[in-house]
Parts: sequence; structure tokens; C-alpha cells
Amino acid sequence: MRLLLIFPKNERSYWGGVSRSGKAGFLRLGLPTVAALTPGDWDVEIIDARVRPVDYGVRADLVGITGLTAEMPNAYEIADNFRKRGVKVVMGGVHVSALPEEALAHADSVIIGEAELVWSSALDDFKKGALKPIYRAARLCDMKGMAIPRRDLVKREMFSGYHTLQATRGCPFNCDYCTVTAFFGNKFRTRPVADVIEEIKGFDTKEFFFMDDNIAGRPGYARELFEALVPLKLNWGSQASITMAKDPELLRLYAKSGGKYAFIGLESLSQENLDNMSKGWNSAKGYGEAIRKIHDAGINIIGSFVFGLDGDDRDVFRKTFEFIMDNDIDAAQFHILTPLPGTVTYKTLEKEGRIIDRDWAKYHTGEVVFEPRSMTAQELQNGYYWIFRNTYRMKNILKRCLRSPKGVAYRMAVNLSYRKKALKMPEVSLR
Ligand code: SF4
Repeated sequence: MRLLLIFPKNERSYWGGVSRSGKAGFLRLGLPTVAALTPGDWDVEIIDARVRPVDYGVRADLVGITGLTAEMPNAYEIADNFRKRGVKVVMGGVHVSALPEEALAHADSVIIGEAELVWSSALDDFKKGALKPIYRAARLCDMKGMAIPRRDLVKREMFSGYHTLQATRGCPFNCDYCTVTAFFGNKFRTRPVADVIEEIKGFDTKEFFFMDDNIAGRPGYARELFEALVPLKLNWGSQASITMAKDPELLRLYAKSGGKYAFIGLESLSQENLDNMSKGWNSAKGYGEAIRKIHDAGINIIGSFVFGLDGDDRDVFRKTFEFIMDNDIDAAQFHILTPLPGTVTYKTLEKEGRIIDRDWAKYHTGEVVFEPRSMTAQELQNGYYWIFRNTYRMKNILKRCLRSPKGVAYRMAVNLSYRKKALKMPEVSLR
């Protein structure tokens, strides 16, 4: 039996695309994990449509597809094409779990929730010719003894961040716009530190990225993990919440263990906005001090900001830009608020009749798909372009990168890669 696992693509997105050298960013672990859960009598192939075109003539008994909301139009196109050729298709992931009925118009079967608990049943049923339309994971899987993703099935030269792994799943918080808690539940799960270290020891490079949503979500676990990483002398990064700045020992170990950078969701400088998105535990007035503490520990910050919240007016872009420059935030990611299915934001905007565009291909956080409250949709779109272009002007990049002699090369590399995204956007002025 031959199983083809496919990651779809979205060429409109500024994030997760393919560089000029033909490489995608970080290797996503979903399908390599599904491959690891597949019994040995299956021949498995993984295709990432971002880096390799899908060949519909290839022999396959079953196709599995998972993708982000913005990749769903391509995912459905791939599914439809295989089904036209008589090949059965199973889909899973966050979007499909939120909207299974929509996915079932394109797939023979959908997996709702984490695949770990139901994948083998789906494969058994398929072999018996009795594939069910829905497989629903009744609970969250235990992270102890988790399957190690089959990285050997993906070509490493196609990814700039090939070594990725997970130490935790979920997040102790539940921000309105985020799919993490909706999908992974509000239970923060951790893998035994020894399992994580064992997996890392199998890597053949000194660099990796934790795909965790919040590596600092449980400080005690994070400290234990970082301590165990120290002797390995590696370089790594992860997403983390700004709450980690409250724990000096955690910061010290983060840096000592090779944690060079952290993606941190600052999101908004308005406490009212943060409170309204259930992120009131982020203290806007404490940002400056928290950033200093993280920098002082030797950790670079890639700050993430979201625009279009109800309290955001046209001034938000200039104020945020000045904050980034004044605080020497090493690099920043910008996102337009996007109502992803399954989130509180989606339900709220849907109820208020403010979703104006349902083309999932535009749900990559770089296009406006809803009616903002305190500015027009065009002002929001232009403001997004303006802050992206301005943050990545060379003089602004240099000012932030030169904040300290340590780590300049790393900061320059990150900034220049984001500058490439910025240069794809139109040059606009703020009115
Ligand atoms: S802290 Fe981050 S991962 Fe956690 S719920 Fe909020 S946005 Fe999602």
C-alpha cells in the first residue's frame, strides 16, 4: 500500500513561502509525525507543494493532506484532483477540525483533533474498504513516548530550518484570535525531558527550532529542559510568552542552553486591546522593562504585532513603529487580525456580520478580510504595508542590529530575510 502525504501551499502569503534558493522555512512536523504513526507495511512519501509540484500521475492508494487555513484552497484542489483519479483522500489539521463539513466536500474522510489516537484505525478501515467520513480523537494524546517524526522522508535541502521538534503542546493561555487552545485544548502538555534530549541527540547539526507555541508556558518544565540542553552546546529558538521575563533563572538558562532568540507575541501596545482579546496577562506598560531583561540575558526578540483590533485607529502603526525602534526590538513580524475558523475572533466577527471576504487564500494575516471598527479596511491594509516597509528600511535595520556588538550577524540575517518580504509590498504613506 502506498500513502502520499501532502502539505499544500499558498503563494499569496508573505510567510512560509519559498526563498529564491528554492527553500521553504521551518519543516512542519504534522505529516512527518503522521508518517511515523503509519505501520511499516505502508510505503510513505511526503510532498511539500511549496517546494515540489504535486504529480497527479504518481501511484498512490491513499492521500493525506493537512494545511493552514490560507492553504485550504490549494489543499482542496489537490484533494479534488486525486479523487477524480479514484484515489481516496483523508484530511486533517486545525482548519479541517474546525470546519469538517467543508472539508468533507473534498475528502473521503477527515480527522478531527490530533492524529495520534485515530490514524491507525483510519488506515485499518481503509484497508477493509470501510473508511469512515469522520475520525474524532476523543482526548488529547499523551506526550510520553511520542512518535518521532519521519524527517528522513523529507529532503533536508528543501528547508532552511530542517531540524524542528516539539517539547510541549498547547499553551496555558487562550487568546481570542489563536487556534492553539481551540485545537490542542487548554491543557499544557509536556514531553519527558529525557525524550526531548534523546531526539535532539539524533540531529546532525548544532541548530534547531522548537515548534512549541510557548516553550516557557510552564516555567518549571522550561528550566528543567534548558538545564538538560546546556551540555549539548547547541543554538536554538522558539516561541515564548513575554511572561518569561518575570523569571530571571529561566532567562539565564534559556540563554545558557543556546536559546538565541524568542518569537514573542506582544500583539498590541494598548492594554484595552490586550484585555479584549483575553491577553490581559500581557502587560503593555511592562513591555519596555521585560524587553530589557530579555535582551540583558542575551536573547534576541522577534516581536509579533497584530493590527485591526477594535481599539486600533490609524495612529497605531506609527506608535508601534516608534515603540519597536525605541526599544530596539531585534525584528518584528506584523499580522492583520484574521478570523481563523475555530477561534473566538471568528465567532465574534461572524456574529457581528463583519467578515467581508471568505476566500481562505487571503487568510494568511497579510490581507484584510473583515471590517475593522476604528479605521477603514484600506487604511488597515496600507498601515500594514507602511510599518512593514518602514521597519525594514536599511537605516532602521542597522539601528536595531547594532544595539549590542553581540549577535549582530544573527540579527542582520533575520532582518534581511524580513526585508525581502517587506520589499514585495507596495510603498505607501500614512495619511
Ligand atoms: S499565548 Fe500565543 S500560543 Fe498561547 S493562546 Fe495566546 S497567541 Fe496562542
